[in-house]
Amino acid sequence: MKTRRVIGLSVVATAVIWFQVAGRFEARRSDAQRESRAQVTSRPASLRIDSDRLMATVQTLADPRFEGRAAGSPGGVAARAWILERIKAIGLQPVSGSYEFPFKFTRMSVNGRVEGEGANLLGLCLGTDPKAPMFVVSAHYDHLGIRNGVLFPGADDNASGVAVMLAVAEYCQKTPLHRSVVFAAFDAEEAGLQGAKAFMIAPPVAKDRIALNVNLDMVSRNDKREIFIAGTYPWPQLRPPLDGVAKRAPVTVLFGHDKPMPVAGGVEDWTNQSDHGPFHAAKIPFVYFGVEDHADYHKPTDTADKIDRGFFVDVAETVLEAIVQLDKSITP
Ligand SMILES: [Zn+2]
Repeated sequence: MKTRRVIGLSVVATAVIWFQVAGRFEARRSDAQRESRAQVTSRPASLRIDSDRLMATVQTLADPRFEGRAAGSPGGVAARAWILERIKAIGLQPVSGSYEFPFKFTRMSVNGRVEGEGANLLGLCLGTDPKAPMFVVSAHYDHLGIRNGVLFPGADDNASGVAVMLAVAEYCQKTPLHRSVVFAAFDAEEAGLQGAKAFMIAPPVAKDRIALNVNLDMVSRNDKREIFIAGTYPWPQLRPPLDGVAKRAPVTVLFGHDKPMPVAGGVEDWTNQSDHGPFHAAKIPFVYFGVEDHADYHKPTDTADKIDRGFFVDVAETVLEAIVQLDKSITP
């Protein structure tokens, strides 16, 4: 979910001039990143991601039988049960004795106060050092549901993120990392990051035991084969290991969308646009993977057949490599 901000007219005039200058600088910088990327065309030795299962997960979650997975709807509840079966089949353990964490929320909408409910799904992959602070790898599984009789399948947003999160969990179970990882399928993100907020209000693991949130939201299609990493501006210590990953990645990795707009020359700030926002607000570092908005964003046309399989698998490999390298680089 991403929103646009409104600013005053006089500020607009100055801002426009400012933005053009800074924007040109920002554009030149990403061009530079694209050029350096073109120089290195290596692929990870072995594809660690099961690409058939990755695609099958998206096709399943975007299927009309899950009715666009609106939080708390019958389709959303059915999708939750399907994901929970996958979490158990992968062998992840319950967190603090549970996999399912229901919550209620209230939010203001154009129609006034709205009451809602949902449930987060959590699974634990134990690391080799149980004392090491954990990672939370997250992706929201809800989407817009059926509106005025029209289905919103939400293939890229965010069945794709859930698919990559489950693929990383499968790898983690086979090849444990140094630290333990909580895999979180958050609910009600489209209703205002409600699942992530509920997680932060009553964290099933102590906040000071969480070293990093890696959030995945819309990771399966981009015409220029570009994936953004947001988070290294507010959390610069994360940049060196990710620079290494970006150099070796089979896709173009761009860093950005994590600065206040005036500083970034009008480039949108995604810091509070998905489930990593509540972690950031709780002063927990985050890394967010996501593509730029595409023509089918929040449209009934965000379907599984629009997914670029090659790009999607390469992004999944890149996310996995980033988590492996961050696990090694973040101490303790
Ligand atoms: Zn989303």
